[in-house]
Amino acid sequence: MRIGVLAVQGAFIEHRQILESLGTETFEIRQLADLNEPMDGVIIPGGESTVIGKLLTDLGMMEPLKEKIQAGLPVFGTCAGMILLADKIENPTQKQVNLGTMDITVVRNAYGRQLGSFHATADFGPSKEVPMTFIRAPYISEVGPKAEILSEVDGHIVAARQDNQLVTAFHPELTQDTRVHEYFLNSIG
Ligand code: GLN
Repeated sequence: MRIGVLAVQGAFIEHRQILESLGTETFEIRQLADLNEPMDGVIIPGGESTVIGKLLTDLGMMEPLKEKIQAGLPVFGTCAGMILLADKIENPTQKQVNLGTMDITVVRNAYGRQLGSFHATADFGPSKEVPMTFIRAPYISEVGPKAEILSEVDGHIVAARQDNQLVTAFHPELTQDTRVHEYFLNSIG
């Protein structure tokens, strides 16, 4: 199995480390040509969704990546990556550009300033008590009929899947717990 990790901005190294520790080959997607590499799935990491969106547009990667996801390429978006996959953002900054392939509505920076960063423990799909790190995190305010909710924290949806797309508002790559990445890999398997 070979997973591409979008590496234009944000926390991509940690995703590579976790996947490699699980015996999965990874490579970095930094430019358009990298999208032609053979891959079984792609990770869109956390970072700043407006910056990643702008870079994807400037590098000519937005449409090709969107087409691959719409054609069924498995994708896992964390935090900013989740925002990029959402087809609706309740509070976008002006001119925010998105992949918009997943039928969910998200709220950016949803926890306000005081709760900019926090930890929680919650169930994720079949996994019990998964440690979760939130950093200026969004949450999902609405999911479409095709999406399945995988995790909720304090009444807010923080993980969901829809067909080939998986999203988490938290950063599983910043904990030692590998179950969320394993869930993604198993969904491809
Ligand atoms: N607040 C960021 C955004 O809107 C996401 C934060 C993160 O990825 N840790 O893009």
